[in-house]
Amino acid sequence: MDKVCAIFGGSRGLGRAVAQLMAQKGYRLAIIARNLEVAKAAAGDLGGGHLAFSCDVTKEQDVQNTFEEMEKNLGPVSFLVNAAGINRDSLLVRTKTEDMLSQLHTNLLGPMLTCKAAMKTMIQQQRGSIVNIGSIVGLKGNAGQSAYSASKGGIVGFSRALAKEVARKKIKVNVVAPGFIHTDMTKDLKEENLKKTIPLGRFGEPIEVAHAVVFLLESPYVTGHVLVVDGGLQLTM
Ligand code: NDP
Repeated sequence: MDKVCAIFGGSRGLGRAVAQLMAQKGYRLAIIARNLEVAKAAAGDLGGGHLAFSCDVTKEQDVQNTFEEMEKNLGPVSFLVNAAGINRDSLLVRTKTEDMLSQLHTNLLGPMLTCKAAMKTMIQQQRGSIVNIGSIVGLKGNAGQSAYSASKGGIVGFSRALAKEVARKKIKVNVVAPGFIHTDMTKDLKEENLKKTIPLGRFGEPIEVAHAVVFLLESPYVTGHVLVVDGGLQLTM
């Protein structure tokens, strides 16, 4: 049977690195993002057999339609990675409600909707493995990122609850919680200052997170786990 994996946020950054690693390992991939052209280019770079889809994870009907299209074209989706995410960093007193909501909707509601849409097939097949991307700030908190931290803390509670709900159906749900990783999301940060706070002394690379994601996706006896990939940052926070 084909190993089909849906990667939300697979067009750039961490999700794209996961896609590159999984393509090398023989998975058939759905690369999903709002910008279809960027998703198509990322899928095309992986070689043949992979498809791109446009979807906004904050919209339930869009997510459901995307699962229908993926399953029609690629077959049952047994693996799911939620790497779509945004940040709108600011102190709480300066954060607009719309920015709080957009982070909660994209980073927390989005993965809830994609997991819900994935369940029908995974339960039917009694087979499934999900990795949701959280963040070290969801565990430790970070000044200037209260709404983002809330969304990422929520991912941990959600993933552990879902892991309990569906373990009997042989479906696993895990979280990878990265620290600072070189992607578009972190390109405007003051790296020289921040890296002094990281015990390993540098930002991580997307491929270093991708290995952790694929490890959890493929681990048959790990569920409800949060794997931190942060160069030791949590030791100092
Ligand atoms: P990037 O900005 O590089 O990529 C974000 C991806 O998410 C893109 O593919 C983007 O495509 C997609 N996306 C954003 N919003 C939506 C949406 N509403 N619907 C569908 N797709 C969407 O971010 P990273 O790769 O850095 O981040 C990936 C995940 O890892 C995020 O959840 C982030 O919070 C988390 N993370 C990142 C860290 C880092 O240091 N980089 C650290 C800790 C966690 P498009 O814009 O076309 O929709």
